[in-house]
Amino acid sequence: MKSGTRIGILGAGQLGRMLGLAGYPLDVDFVFLDPASEACAAPLGAHIHADYTDERALADFCGQIDLATFEFENVPNVAAEFVAARVPLHPNPRALTAGQDRLSEKALFSSLGIPVPTHAAVDSREGLAAAVAITGLPAVLKTRRMGYDGKGQAVLRTPADLDAAWNAIGGQPLILEAFVPFTREVSCLAVRARDGSMAFYPLVENVHRAGILRTATPTVNDPLQAMGEAYARRVAEHLDYVGVLAFEFFVANGELIANEIAPRVHNSGHWTIEGAETSQFENHLRAIVGLPLGSTALRGASVMVNYIGLAPDIEAASALEGVHTHLYGKTPKPQRKIGHATVTAPDAASLQARLAKLLAILPDGG
Ligand code: AMP
Repeated sequence: MKSGTRIGILGAGQLGRMLGLAGYPLDVDFVFLDPASEACAAPLGAHIHADYTDERALADFCGQIDLATFEFENVPNVAAEFVAARVPLHPNPRALTAGQDRLSEKALFSSLGIPVPTHAAVDSREGLAAAVAITGLPAVLKTRRMGYDGKGQAVLRTPADLDAAWNAIGGQPLILEAFVPFTREVSCLAVRARDGSMAFYPLVENVHRAGILRTATPTVNDPLQAMGEAYARRVAEHLDYVGVLAFEFFVANGELIANEIAPRVHNSGHWTIEGAETSQFENHLRAIVGLPLGSTALRGASVMVNYIGLAPDIEAASALEGVHTHLYGKTPKPQRKIGHATVTAPDAASLQARLAKLLAILPDGG
């Protein structure tokens, strides 16, 4: 890798910001392209403020960089293909689109022998009733595209819920999934280098609140680690993937059931900044520029807590032992991720004590 390598990032949200922060010690520079008026990664590099389908802006972007990546998984495929025709784009456009449609994503998992929830496509109100006959109730109705943080979803508990769910999100391609009675939700964060070598972080246990990730805790010797790694490897090798891949699973009956992949660095990996030998952000950059991958080993115990809507008082948080604050420079709004903290400790018992102190000062009561 030459020094001063210029990396283009499609998307300039908090993931781009943390990629930028990880890139500075490696002497790489960044150009971000993002249509949002508030692009919190913009201070970390040059910012092209344009739509993803603006070909003139994309050409300008490609002209300024050595290679490209993305931090937003809903970049339109045409934009990814446009960029990939001009500069190396990692992960490749096929990997980007693999997770954009929940139905074809599940077909991919099934073709690779990875278990998925029972599901059916829904394209009409009558189709919804037919799909319920396949999945049973309870079930979760979701938009096939563009959903995130529980948006574009409705839980069906009884037949009386069908009309309301259809009225809320019908009229676009949908998928109905049987509700998985999970005991845990975990994610496997994998990273694949350009030469095909891979590294895996310990499985992360994720707790959601109202569909939004609340805490993410790396596990130690999880019995499902090997299964998670095998599934992530299958997907990554199939897609000839380069970079960090996040794979979210439900745990039911001691098995992993695939939920979804994100072809990018992921919220459930933010703890790696302080909690792992090499952060997910640095490892993504290492992978895409062609450097050897860094160790994914744990550095003590850690847990990540998202700041949703409001952050705690920074003075109070900073007074707590082992609490590392990350604010994204975003305007606070209900249900918006505006920052996170990683709590670190030498062992699991002191981690719980430190976490309890942080939760006690959160504006929403932890
Ligand atoms: P998703 O956007 O698909 O990751 O869904 C957001 C959250 O909704 C998940 O993390 C789960 O907590 C819950 N959820 C989604 N799909 C299902 C399902 N089929 N069964 C049970 N819970 C689900």
